[in-house]
Amino acid sequence: MPGEEHYQFDHSAVSSSRQVFRDAPRVASPSIPNSPRQGDGFRERSGRPRTPRPEEAPRVRRSRSNSVDSKHSTEGRTRSSRTAALLDRPLPNCSRPTATDRYDDWYSFPGYRNFDICPSCYDGLFADTPFAHHFSQTRRYERPTERFCDFSSAWMRLAWLLTIKQRRQSIDLLYALADISGSDRPCPGDRELSADRVSWYGIADQRDGLHVANFAVCAADVKMLEVLFPTVRGYFVRLPPASTYSPEKHTCSLRVSSRRFPKYLDLLVEIDAEAQSTGQRPNMSKFIKMARENAFKGECARNKAFVRKAWHFIPELPEFTVCEECYDEVIWPAVAAKSSSLPRLVNKSIQLVPNEDLELGSSCSLYSPRMRKVWDVSAKEGDFKYLERKVLERKRKEILLAKERRGVLQWLAGQEKGSRGYERAREELKQLERVWKDWE
Ligand SMILES: [Zn+2]
Ligand SMILES: [Zn+2]
Ligand SMILES: [Zn+2]
Repeated sequence: MPGEEHYQFDHSAVSSSRQVFRDAPRVASPSIPNSPRQGDGFRERSGRPRTPRPEEAPRVRRSRSNSVDSKHSTEGRTRSSRTAALLDRPLPNCSRPTATDRYDDWYSFPGYRNFDICPSCYDGLFADTPFAHHFSQTRRYERPTERFCDFSSAWMRLAWLLTIKQRRQSIDLLYALADISGSDRPCPGDRELSADRVSWYGIADQRDGLHVANFAVCAADVKMLEVLFPTVRGYFVRLPPASTYSPEKHTCSLRVSSRRFPKYLDLLVEIDAEAQSTGQRPNMSKFIKMARENAFKGECARNKAFVRKAWHFIPELPEFTVCEECYDEVIWPAVAAKSSSLPRLVNKSIQLVPNEDLELGSSCSLYSPRMRKVWDVSAKEGDFKYLERKVLERKRKEILLAKERRGVLQWLAGQEKGSRGYERAREELKQLERVWKDWE
């Protein structure tokens, strides 16, 4: 019987689920994967041994014994080193994140119609692991239809990381998510929809019992988070349906395109692990606090342009438009620290941009890691000229690409779906997006 440490959640490696969302995600290499110190540290923090939860049923039975005899430790080493080997593998770059009908070599679970893994994800993760036999290329003899790789989803990748970190003996988390994607309508993403189209869930503020304002999660995402974080089950409750007088529309607060998504997921990983280790109810007040703080703060819309919207900017450099969220995250802390004079040049209250291009509008110029680095260097050196040069360079490229995009879209409107011209236009749009990635 394996020792208790095999079932303890190892905080260290899934300390940040953000690794799942980066362009080339890698599992943080475990500092000392087999170290007994990790377990000890965890016990110290939690104060008492973890209480097993019935929800974790598919895993093998666990022992509460703290005794470590030789048999336990031998088994422990074998399993831990296998886990360490899995952890050492970087999460592969998915080669098919968007739908394509060009392939029939997908891997799937037998009997699952809507669950597909591309060969690069399969080879990078499951081939030659004890889980390989669960997958087979079941689409080989089917006529190829549009499919995308389910392993491009941050949820699925997190399920895999949790499987490794919790040293699960089965891949039931992956099966559970595959079941949900087979039966439920997918997250509507950036689309704003009313309650007659999607069942929305909210979370009650424990202080007054009311739902946190402007926080709504789609049914599919609630199901997935309840699978991955079993201790938070029941905390997300169905929002009352909208009345005919006030049709309530929402955008999913856990859409993967949102910058807040990794932060919410990081926090859920932490809350669930803590609840599992202490056997206490999850400390949802942290989550509610985050949702409340976000409730009335507009989220950064990245490069989406708006016309006649108010921004933070430097009056001498109105091209450097910064949204409220990025201002709070990056510029305000620097103003408060008084370490440089540059941050104080940015207007503290949002204002309309003078002489704005009314066709192209303005978008946030401080959301990308590249521009945040430019800002950091400029602020540290107090170098306004450097910031100006970089901002104007970026702005010129942004205008150029926006005009090209507009041209392609106009042309695309006249093409028949599926025709060669249509495909070429779509490819050109993707190419423009790729170019922008280097400049954003
Ligand atoms: Zn893939
Ligand atoms: Zn959603
Ligand atoms: Zn922003």
